Amino acid sequence: MRLTIESTAEVVDIDGVTVRTWHGRTAGNVPVLVYVRSLSPQSRDPAVAAEFGRELEEIAAPRNMTVSILPSVRMPTAPAIGGNTFDAVAAWRAMPDVVRDMIGALAIVERISDLGGCIAQETRDPEAWRWFEAAASESASRLSEIVTAVLLGGDSETMPPRPDLRPLGIAQCRVCGCTEEIGCADGCRWVEPDLCSSHGPFLAEPEG
Ligand SMILES: [Zn+2]
Ligand SMILES: [Zn+2]
Repeated sequence: MRLTIESTAEVVDIDGVTVRTWHGRTAGNVPVLVYVRSLSPQSRDPAVAAEFGRELEEIAAPRNMTVSILPSVRMPTAPAIGGNTFDAVAAWRAMPDVVRDMIGALAIVERISDLGGCIAQETRDPEAWRWFEAAASESASRLSEIVTAVLLGGDSETMPPRPDLRPLGIAQCRVCGCTEEIGCADGCRWVEPDLCSSHGPFLAEPEG
């Protein structure tokens, strides 16, 4: 049997399995419905994967399907007190363009919409507020799903490694992770560019 099928945006649940509905026709022109669980390109060539991702996004794909085709990226981690740290800049560089495009655009939408939503609330503009709220909510959910799928192997239960902010040019204590905005509970100051006064032989405040 030969079928020509085209995706719809409809997602249905069949026996507990979430599937996407495709409309098709047989060689004899009989209309059929096709329910697809997952899709992936045969080739691992990044150019093919990028084209596949582009075509898949022509109709907004159901979340689980999009996420399931994303390649995972090994997250560069380094041991630290209380866990591991990871370098987000290195992780970003290891991602294929198709993933970077999605994450980057979603991050922009999420921030812009959060800002827009606040301003819409202050200026009492309910139409703009709903638009921004919807965009902020959807982009935050998608961003979370994609980052979890790509960097954490889909595991949102286990404690992730702690972000190292130093590759982003943000001052951070290499031992406890405190920053200018969020210092240690008892207060601290910088004793080295990436070490705060809570540690080691630097505990004593200078006299006078
Ligand atoms: Zn510290
Ligand atoms: Zn500190």
